[in-house]
Amino acid sequence: MRIDLTLLERRLDELYAIGAEPDGGAYRPLYGEAWAVACDRVEHWMREAELTVHRDAVGNVWGRLEGSGGGKPVVTGSHIDTVRRGGRLDGALGIVAGLGAVQALEAAYGAPQRPLEVLVVCEEEGSRFNTNFWGSRAIVGAIQSGEADRWRDPAGVTLAQAMRERGLDPSQIPAAARSDLDAFVELHIEQGSVLESAEVALGVVTTIAGGVHLQVTVSGRADHAGTTPMDLRLDALVGAAAMVEAIAHCAAVEGRPAVATVGKLRVEPDQINVVPGRVVFTVDLRHAALEACRNLTQGIRGICETLATERGLGLEIATLHERPPVPMHADIRTAIEAAASEDDVTTMALVSGAGHDAQILASRCRVGMLFVPSNDGRSHCPEEATDRSDLELGTRVLARTLHQLAY
Ligand SMILES: [Zn+2]
Repeated sequence: MRIDLTLLERRLDELYAIGAEPDGGAYRPLYGEAWAVACDRVEHWMREAELTVHRDAVGNVWGRLEGSGGGKPVVTGSHIDTVRRGGRLDGALGIVAGLGAVQALEAAYGAPQRPLEVLVVCEEEGSRFNTNFWGSRAIVGAIQSGEADRWRDPAGVTLAQAMRERGLDPSQIPAAARSDLDAFVELHIEQGSVLESAEVALGVVTTIAGGVHLQVTVSGRADHAGTTPMDLRLDALVGAAAMVEAIAHCAAVEGRPAVATVGKLRVEPDQINVVPGRVVFTVDLRHAALEACRNLTQGIRGICETLATERGLGLEIATLHERPPVPMHADIRTAIEAAASEDDVTTMALVSGAGHDAQILASRCRVGMLFVPSNDGRSHCPEEATDRSDLELGTRVLARTLHQLAY
């Protein structure tokens, strides 16, 4: 079996040029012009490869290679949308490699026994609306009725309007649901530096991390910055700063893959000459097991309460969002491992800290993911890159995995 690396790279370049931004990177927001051109381009490649193409009600593109024995399809692919100034590989690699893998398999072994499908997921990134996983949620039938009218982009356009502009009918969304899928395998860049630092070229995802979003409000007292002695202050920001430090420490002590990030912080009244009276900040915590996620959350709550009490500050912690971890299916992990060993490729088991469509599709079929290294761990930026040899290796192991599952 031969992977056409030149074709793979050319297709990645073509997609990256669609929605190119003046200061680098590409932006392909859901149902935008660049998004539509990119979907058309992939559809064209699918037709060239003689796949049967179908677009579902939300605009996911499916390319199907029939299986001689029928049965439920084995699916591979990824998302076509990008963040602003997105890189060349996030999402695009899974699509281009998935198509390349199916083409390589057909060339080498002819028709599969089970149907093979290449999936272009219309949206995963929340690229235009606050709707992460719009494409995969449609596939598992998890979009609530009325959702398309609720979401608005920054310009005020509803998701339903945006769909109509692309010739899609929001009332048909339930028709995108599929109950006939056997497996979904996605090749993705790691978007971190675990593989690179371990000098391993292929990661097998064990679990997509669960997470908790907290909102912490620290209340003190706004006072004159010149007249209030240090010992008489209730400075909310000084208290919050201690909490931020302690939160990072909690996750660091817990060890990998636990992570905790304070990414947003608002100071009130936000004046140079006023002691901060109130600070509101967010915490994003992630871990591989639900129990561990909860323990970490408890630990963070406890330490923030202690710090607030010591300083005479008020404290409120609200849970904004809780998402359980999603384990990858043992069968698919085994198939990936077996595929890698056929090629004498060393693998590393790792937890995905980022969310992926596989976590949504897991409710309908067996799912698994392979990661290739991200140079310097960079992603969601124009510097996003992976060595050519790793792109080839990832695509080859993906193809062998599909071979295990569909032939
Ligand atoms: Zn992605």
